Amino acid sequence: MAMEFKEYMKKFNEIMEPYILPKPWSPVEEALYKPLNFFDTPKKEAEEMRFKAIKYTFKHHYENNAFYQKFCKENNVTPDDIKSVDDLYKIPLLEDKFFKDYPSGKEFALWLANIFTGKLPNVVINKKKPSFEDVITAFNKAGLIISYSSGTSGRHTVIPRDKKTWLRSQYALAKSVVTMIYPFPFWKENVYAQWLMSNPFKTNIFAGKIGEVVYHIVKNPDCAIDRQVTAELIRQAMMGGFKSKVIQMAMKRENKKTINKLVRWLKERDKNKDLAGMLGAPFLLHFAMNKLEEEGVTLNMEDRGAIVTGGGWKIYEHERIPVKEFRKRTNEILGIVENQILDLYAMVEGNGFIIHCPEEHALHIPSTYYYPLVLDKNGEAVGEGEEGRFAFLDALSSSYPSFIITGDNVKLNGECSCGRNSITLHPEVRRAAGEEMRGCAEEMRKMLAVDLSGKND
Ligand SMILES: [Zn+2]
Repeated sequence: MAMEFKEYMKKFNEIMEPYILPKPWSPVEEALYKPLNFFDTPKKEAEEMRFKAIKYTFKHHYENNAFYQKFCKENNVTPDDIKSVDDLYKIPLLEDKFFKDYPSGKEFALWLANIFTGKLPNVVINKKKPSFEDVITAFNKAGLIISYSSGTSGRHTVIPRDKKTWLRSQYALAKSVVTMIYPFPFWKENVYAQWLMSNPFKTNIFAGKIGEVVYHIVKNPDCAIDRQVTAELIRQAMMGGFKSKVIQMAMKRENKKTINKLVRWLKERDKNKDLAGMLGAPFLLHFAMNKLEEEGVTLNMEDRGAIVTGGGWKIYEHERIPVKEFRKRTNEILGIVENQILDLYAMVEGNGFIIHCPEEHALHIPSTYYYPLVLDKNGEAVGEGEEGRFAFLDALSSSYPSFIITGDNVKLNGECSCGRNSITLHPEVRRAAGEEMRGCAEEMRKMLAVDLSGKND
């Protein structure tokens, strides 16, 4: 018998206690922790919470971030102009490119200090000519969580989170997943989880690091890519080809091991009838399933398996699999029920985790703290069903203005026939023309693409 949703979320909040900020709560915490289900909060209530939270955060950045205040003044907007829900669109948005526009060396540290809201901790950088990773590591040692994502050019999107923002972000991810994967009993002893990204404790990449929370929630977590993943390693992969044949050979062996390990893990879970949750890059599962197919093996994980994919659907350089096809194939090969195979859309710049509902596989937007916008070429909001540039106002960040225009093209779909009270995005999100490919899974894919690109030996 499945547990009541209310009980289920109570259990979740108990486990997540270390991630919940102490009271008194600001409107931001209220909007994040209070709703039982932020994908299904009555519209009026959700709008009110969201307005208060975003206004609060906007005022905070305006008052504590000199650079953003200047930007707002240039746009003739002050917190006093945001009087009701209808004024939210006035909040000045930053282009995502802005977070990539950093100088190198010690200047990079200054740049970070500039975009940071509030007072930075004391950061010590010993080296004369610090590398990108050196600067980030120094900030993180001082208590921040600076993470990045990258594009094919090897240029990173760098986002500085303070402890508060980082806790909120991880809580938001966990709550989004758990809400939609209900009634999967994630807290049980026999739950195993596979983080289909790099080890959260060995990387500064956002998509890897955010997996820390998975390690917190389940009893038996594991990760697919255990090696240390640095900006330099990605840069080499992005440039195509590695420094030498020796490195290339070593990578190749590593990558084969990664897939073999994942296949072994899947078989073991299936054999022992364990509960198995998988989160992360779909292409890793894709390759594991190729291997199972080669062996002529199918598994019967049924409702004991749950998958939440994220970060992009490129498998090879010019090939991407449609989400629906992936679901069907996963059902055929792993035997997992399709309503426990969900996709999630998120990015390093924001703290909103947009996720499939199990019934319709529509991408639902959390409604109490995150305000989505779809913009045309002139920056004007377009209506439902029209494609445009995705932008958002995200209340969860206290360390950088998370009011951002992304490089993705989306369509708002309005209400979903699953009945949940939140608007949705069309399930196929695309990079806008002229924008480079990137995303959580993309750098992992590039790293592994060396030998997984089709013909193996
Ligand atoms: Zn739905």
